[in-house]
Amino acid sequence: MAYSAKETDTVSRNSVTKNEQLLTMIERVTCALRTLSAGNHTLLHASDEQELLHDMCQVIVEKGGYRMVGVAYAEHDKDKSLHWMASIGVDKEFVEALQYTWADTEMGRSATAIAIRTGQPCVGRSILTDPVYAAPAYAPLRENAIKAGYAAVTAFPLRVNEQVLGALVMGAIEPDAFDEEEVKLLSELADDLAYGITNLRMRIEHQTAQATIARLAYYDSLTELPNRTFMLERLQDAIQTAKSNHHPLALLHMSIVRLRGINQILGYGSGDQLLQQLAQRLKRSLETGNFLARVGEGEFALLLPSGGSDDAIQAAQRLANVLHDSVEVAGLMVDPRVSIGIALYPVHAIKADILLRRANAATNDVCPSRGGYAIYTGGQEQECTRRLSLMGDFRQAIERKELLLYCQPKVDIVSRRVCGAEALVRWQHPVHGMLATTEFIKLAENAGLITPLTHWMLDAVFSQSYAWHEVGLEQALSVNLSAHDLYDPMLIDRIKGLFSTWNISPELIQFELTESTLMEEPSIALETLTKLKKLGTRLFIDDFGTGYSSLSYLQKLPVDSIKIDQSFVMPMEANNDSAVIVHSTIELGHNLDLEVVAEGVDSQAVWDLLVTLECDVAQGYLISMPMPAEEFSNWESEWVRMPV
Ligand code: C2E
Ligand code: MG
Ligand code: MG
Repeated sequence: MAYSAKETDTVSRNSVTKNEQLLTMIERVTCALRTLSAGNHTLLHASDEQELLHDMCQVIVEKGGYRMVGVAYAEHDKDKSLHWMASIGVDKEFVEALQYTWADTEMGRSATAIAIRTGQPCVGRSILTDPVYAAPAYAPLRENAIKAGYAAVTAFPLRVNEQVLGALVMGAIEPDAFDEEEVKLLSELADDLAYGITNLRMRIEHQTAQATIARLAYYDSLTELPNRTFMLERLQDAIQTAKSNHHPLALLHMSIVRLRGINQILGYGSGDQLLQQLAQRLKRSLETGNFLARVGEGEFALLLPSGGSDDAIQAAQRLANVLHDSVEVAGLMVDPRVSIGIALYPVHAIKADILLRRANAATNDVCPSRGGYAIYTGGQEQECTRRLSLMGDFRQAIERKELLLYCQPKVDIVSRRVCGAEALVRWQHPVHGMLATTEFIKLAENAGLITPLTHWMLDAVFSQSYAWHEVGLEQALSVNLSAHDLYDPMLIDRIKGLFSTWNISPELIQFELTESTLMEEPSIALETLTKLKKLGTRLFIDDFGTGYSSLSYLQKLPVDSIKIDQSFVMPMEANNDSAVIVHSTIELGHNLDLEVVAEGVDSQAVWDLLVTLECDVAQGYLISMPMPAEEFSNWESEWVRMPV
């Protein structure tokens, strides 16, 4: 077919226009492709979300030739507001201040809002001619478009984990920009960006999870201090360094003596509070270079990586001070009582676990009056092993009938008449023979075995009292109670039961509680004493003078008698301070209408002094050593016959 000249001209003009359009399209697609590829590069290298968003905007402007680009996140607040994370060609703060929203309202008609709401791209919105943008609320946007030189905008949703997180929006110079091919490529870019965000967030979650795992493995969650595993690793490294540099190092082990009791009496929550508060104090006092950890339930350890014994002692004194003050838990002021054990590298051990064990063993030797700390001495560990094996044996001692009832008389000083006896337990061990009472009582207390011991003692005392009654001996027997007995819910009922079983008069059974026991939990002590008093029994404060009780507290207690501790009585002849203490205690007791008993009366000189000081009752080796209960009756007859 032949064309006329005019027709040929029109055809050629049409084909030029088509070619130009094709060229523009190719250019745009090439541009979009370039952007996509540069975007991928950015994705691969980003290590942080904010940085990724910023770099992506940069790429879109630089490689894609767009005039404006921005990323807005959809907030799930009540206004469904938009939070502008990154932008070029429009100021973040400026758009944010315009308070557009992604809600379906007048303020939510922008391309960005629609993309977020529908989850679909909102393509080619012409800022200058679109009626939506003609609304007054969008005037600032139009002005910005004119200023920045863009005429059309397209927004793509950013999908992260099946949810639309926000939108990527871009503005092009031409009003007819964003043809199908270009939008397809830019959509891909938006998906890549969303994928990049997901990936970064997953990476962060993973890192957080890893950090949590590491923290759980190396830190104690209650106090947020390093745990024992961490301490042992640190200690081993420190030992290595100390070895290479030829210097010593010290490890201090702190045991919270009262923790167990607090857990049992006030509950684990209170125990946790105590530990947290002590940990805070320790952290605050921590000196640079030292390493603090929680190494056991109620145990902390402090590593001095280059300290000798002098440094360790100084640190122990400092810690004893820091931990000394009472801690408020469950509304009560609790004295935590901390023992500090010290072990040194290389003298005491050259391996981390042994050093830690030995510092721990040293805490058993701590005496509050000697500063509350002790340095490891070789014997402590053997001692620990021995104690452990004794503890095991003690469990069977009652069944195997190895416990014995001894008693020691108390004598009225003026009349010299026997006025009762103290019941004292003895343990005849099948291998070790007769064991020191104080030692196994402490052991039983620590092992939670005091309740069966007290129950055994009560049975023995009631049955002995009955036996004496049968032979015409009416002497009161006093039973020692431990702190733990105060919390035994069965104690009072058990005693009531024994009274009715044996039909024994209440004044023949007495109870002794040490001053420190009473001070440990004053309110519970008062409750138990009141119940015991109601049964008609006589009550003694034992070891008086060692527990720092206050006069006002003493006045509240329903007690009848105080027993001055033997540590004041025994040296009173030679030591004036002791004599003064005994003297004033007798006066104090009498002022409170209490009977006063002196314990540990082991010489005539002490007896004579007590006569002058008008002490009421004496107990001690001068009168008699503790004896098997069945010998008491004979002893008493002899005593009565003895000339004054
Ligand atoms: P305590 O209640 O203060 O008993 C007095 C202790 O002093 C007894 O030691 C007694 O043998 C000792 N003693 C008495 N007179 C003298 C003296 O003149 N010189 C010296 N050096 N010592 C004297 P024992 O029997 O070894 O008991 C030690 C502690 O063990 C008792 O102190 C008491 O707190 C506790 N205890 C003994 N039996 C029991 C018991 O059945 N239950 C409980 N919970 N504790 C007990
Ligand atoms: Mg006693
Ligand atoms: Mg005593």
